[in-house]
Amino acid sequence: MYTALILEQHDGKTQASIGNITDAQLPAGNVTVKVSHSSLNYKDGLAITGTGKIIRQFPMVPGIDFAGEVLSSADKRYQVGDKVILTGWGVGETHWGGMAEVARVDADWLVPMPANCDAAKAMMIGTAGLTAMLCVQAILDANIPTDTGEILVTGASGGVGSTAVRLLSQLGYQVCASSGRVEQNHQLLTQLGATSVIERAELDRPAKPLEKQRWAAVVDSVGNQVLATALSQIHYGGVAAICGLAGGAALPTTVMPFILRGVNLLGIDSVNCPLPRRQQAWQSLMQLLPDSFYQQACTTIELAQVPEYAARIIKGEVTGRTLVKL
Ligand code: NAP
Repeated sequence: MYTALILEQHDGKTQASIGNITDAQLPAGNVTVKVSHSSLNYKDGLAITGTGKIIRQFPMVPGIDFAGEVLSSADKRYQVGDKVILTGWGVGETHWGGMAEVARVDADWLVPMPANCDAAKAMMIGTAGLTAMLCVQAILDANIPTDTGEILVTGASGGVGSTAVRLLSQLGYQVCASSGRVEQNHQLLTQLGATSVIERAELDRPAKPLEKQRWAAVVDSVGNQVLATALSQIHYGGVAAICGLAGGAALPTTVMPFILRGVNLLGIDSVNCPLPRRQQAWQSLMQLLPDSFYQQACTTIELAQVPEYAARIIKGEVTGRTLVKL
């Protein structure tokens, strides 16, 4: 028997409770992992509170990421005792996920633990941190120099945002952090390396098609009017790496930034990201994130606290990353 967070649906409402699962109940897969850590991401919040239609089959064990040690493997690439990470691939959505002591998955979905990493560190980074790295990599691939102006990071107090601020600052970029919680998080954001901090309200308003050029590039996890305003303020030839919808899925913009300033919109997905790019991203994360990051931007919780934190992440009340200890 293994302890797990279990989601069930009653009268159309999602209910989360701690319970037991057996080996026989685990889903199909060729590698079984003893999970030591998972993490709380925005998508977990949507799934656990039932806010978003993330889960269609119940009962479900949530947790879109986890790290741990291989218990058994029918795949040549993994041996008993190997340390592994999993993010994405629909785990915690359509396949039982990381918020359980044991998970059974497809070997193709696993990433071997990178050098200088352990399960706790890996999940302090988690899906959000990996996605932040993929956004930053897209900006590097677009050859945005470090001396052309500020990079705007929206939703900067969140998991993707806080990690992106740290990574960009570490690479020598000037970073402007946009947040709806400036008063609460100004100190954290500057500690993470933001050179300036602005109120979300400056961006969260109807945008003109083109506004004063302000940003060399943007990392956006918010969407909607915040992103639309940011796009209208990107320098000629700049880019926006976009990955999220914490502020809504709409994008009320015009073609103007794209056709008059050559701005490029770079869509970022971590769920189905191919393995070589994931491994490269994990290596970059290990090289770039200083030890201080893990102390500054992470909170550790127990499995029983997950439902409470899931409700809070949806309300935009969680700061940084949340590590879940199994
Ligand atoms: P998170 O920790 O909750 O961060 C989101 C942040 O956005 C919040 O901390 C808040 O920052 C801001 N925010 C919250 N509500 C808002 C609202 N109504 N309007 C404007 N801003 C708001 O979540 P996360 O785990 O970093 O994920 C962020 C987004 O990225 C989510 O939409 C998630 O689904 C998406 N995501 C996508 C991928 C992918 O593969 N594409 C992977 C990971 C995450 P401030 O208080 O500082 O404003």
